[in-house]
Amino acid sequence: MQSVTKLRLVASPAERQMLFATMERYNAACNAVSPVAFSERQFSNIGLQNRLYRHVRETFGLSAQMAQLAIRKVAGSYRSTREAIKEQNKVLAVLGKPLKIFTKLSFREHGAICYDARVLSIGQSRVSIWTLDGRIKLWYSKPDHFPAVATVRQTDLVYRDGAFWLYATVETPDIDPAEPSEYLGVDLGVVTIATTSDGATFSSEATEKVRKRYGRLKGVLQKTGTKSAKRKLQQIAGRERRFKTDTNHAISKRIVCAAEGTKRGIALEDLKGILLRTTVTKGQRERHHKWAFHQLRSSIEYKARRAGVRVQVIDGAYTSQQCSVCGFVHPDNRPTQAAFRCRACGHTENADLNAAKNIAARAAVNRPIAVCSPDTGGEVESQACKEHGAAYGIMPPTSVGGS
Ligand SMILES: [Zn+2]
Repeated sequence: MQSVTKLRLVASPAERQMLFATMERYNAACNAVSPVAFSERQFSNIGLQNRLYRHVRETFGLSAQMAQLAIRKVAGSYRSTREAIKEQNKVLAVLGKPLKIFTKLSFREHGAICYDARVLSIGQSRVSIWTLDGRIKLWYSKPDHFPAVATVRQTDLVYRDGAFWLYATVETPDIDPAEPSEYLGVDLGVVTIATTSDGATFSSEATEKVRKRYGRLKGVLQKTGTKSAKRKLQQIAGRERRFKTDTNHAISKRIVCAAEGTKRGIALEDLKGILLRTTVTKGQRERHHKWAFHQLRSSIEYKARRAGVRVQVIDGAYTSQQCSVCGFVHPDNRPTQAAFRCRACGHTENADLNAAKNIAARAAVNRPIAVCSPDTGGEVESQACKEHGAAYGIMPPTSVGGS
């Protein structure tokens, strides 16, 4: 499978200057290629290389390889932008809204450099990277999930939040998940983002705080409406997105580690169970939560796949109303949002933990659950359990010619 691993580079002030200077020259080259590509509608890499390679090398003093990479970035950016606009216009046409127009691209001075193996190589502890002042070797901080057996496809040098990063696209062999006998159940919620059947909880308090703070800031900036406010808005959106992604990353990592370390699978409920419990939330909040669930789930699934941990999705109906000890299902088993108290056997527990245990149990056994429906006068029916994815420094087209 292909994945992107982010490595933070350790660079001295002098090395930072070299990297900045290289980025600026590279993106200046991109900005020289872009108008030609646009006016001649030439978006094929080979076509552009033939047309501009010599010019770029001579004008910008880039190595042969770096000149090719700059041209390739422009060609690739046009192609992906054209595709994206095509997709957006399909939706806009249906909505009867004005269509987006394909315009000339320009590139930020500190936009990403898309390196390949000839100009950048990742060693055990250091990377060797081409700059205008020759190759330099830099230390990097390795994330603990950096795959031991991997082929690096492409590496992008990105400047973000005051630091240089390498975004390495790596190809790792698939691990076939083993069939586990036990599962770690994960209950996804609103106040508590995730509760596991082991009793670990992850609160949404911090993310909710950040969402509210950014929400207020966005309101103020939207009212201001100036060019700098728009830029600030984009920055905030990026920061908020990264904060959420980092939070999800941390949560999903702990969940997958817990399952991997105990040789268990991971059990998640299908969307039905989640939606049944989140009908109270409205508008912005609801969209946010649906999105958060989706992201967390895909993050868990992705990391589990990488670690060779089996993920099973179970029918989420009644997981919150069922007793994890005796199996009795009744809405009155939930006297409050937070508490579970079984009316049949008297078992009491935190409601999320009880639900997580049900989720784990349903994945381990395809056992039938007894459903006590209030509509049928308390008659018990049996119900079997079903088994069952960067702008890269490309500025918005409108700002062409600004700087
Ligand atoms: Zn019970």
